Amino acid sequence: MNLKKSFLAGLALAMAAGTLISTSAQAQKDWPTKSIQLVVPFAAGGPTDSIARLIAVPMGQALGQTVVVENVNGAGGTIASTKVARAAPDGYTIYIHHMGMATANALYDKLPYDPMTSFEYIGQVADVPMVLLGKKDLPANNFKELEAYIKANGAKVTMANAGPGAVSQLCGLLFQSRLGVKLTNIPYKGTGPALTDLLGGQVDLLCDQTTQTIPYILDGRIKAYGTTTMKRLPAIPNVPTLNEQGMKGFEVKVWHGVYAPKGTPQPILDKINAALKKALNSPDVKKRLEDANIDIVPASKINAKALKDHLESEINVWGPVIRKANIPD
Ligand code: ASP
Repeated sequence: MNLKKSFLAGLALAMAAGTLISTSAQAQKDWPTKSIQLVVPFAAGGPTDSIARLIAVPMGQALGQTVVVENVNGAGGTIASTKVARAAPDGYTIYIHHMGMATANALYDKLPYDPMTSFEYIGQVADVPMVLLGKKDLPANNFKELEAYIKANGAKVTMANAGPGAVSQLCGLLFQSRLGVKLTNIPYKGTGPALTDLLGGQVDLLCDQTTQTIPYILDGRIKAYGTTTMKRLPAIPNVPTLNEQGMKGFEVKVWHGVYAPKGTPQPILDKINAALKKALNSPDVKKRLEDANIDIVPASKINAKALKDHLESEINVWGPVIRKANIPD
């Protein structure tokens, strides 16, 4: 191409970009004019999906458009993260993910996205405790008995998780690393289907969030061996913490954040942030989360800076823990 031609081509590109910029300025003002997709990195019916569906309705009401949940399962959430990192930054794709956004870095050699640069940050959502669970007819009735049962049966014991990068995998493998055993780990597309199999007795153990599990613990349909919190949970006060049963400092609280693809315009991010704040302030959402002993983050954390800072500090916390525990095994 000669100089003139390349200049003209450049000019055409610049003009096209100019049109895009002005269209996009108008689009930013009008946004949203159609439904918004909220991507969830795990299967429907699981804890991340439940929180997403809980906030989707009031967020949609605040924005005047439906917020539609889309489950993009697989590879412990990294398939969804990749999809969102590559999506158009027009506000019509947003993303909820938990602390897997911080742990995947240490679990995968090379991710097709960078948690610190491939996204816009909208705000933190909620912190969810976890519980070490067993199927109803597992012979062990408490943590001590579980330790003995595992030592006697080793890899015959099966443990479900939501894939490499999921918090259920992290919790399960930290537990095995502390016990010095290797169980048979079975990956699912989310802890929703994993919990179904635990209830059906097809798998022995699962480390899952409290979001769906409390009613099953209370009515004895699954066994609870310990919580991953430093204090016992008010909804299940008879379940001791793992910490008090000898696993000192065993703490996993599953924090969540809302993101958008990098380059999503600030005025749109501001509108999403306002809708998120409104949703988390809704009495229905608060009640549902409180019932599951989930902590809604204070308003001061529902912003981009708090989420990005938290993500960075969590990458630094979990990287060494994961490497030391030799996860994945
Ligand atoms: N919370 C699950 C995990 O990371 C996944 C899910 O929400 O289904 O283990």
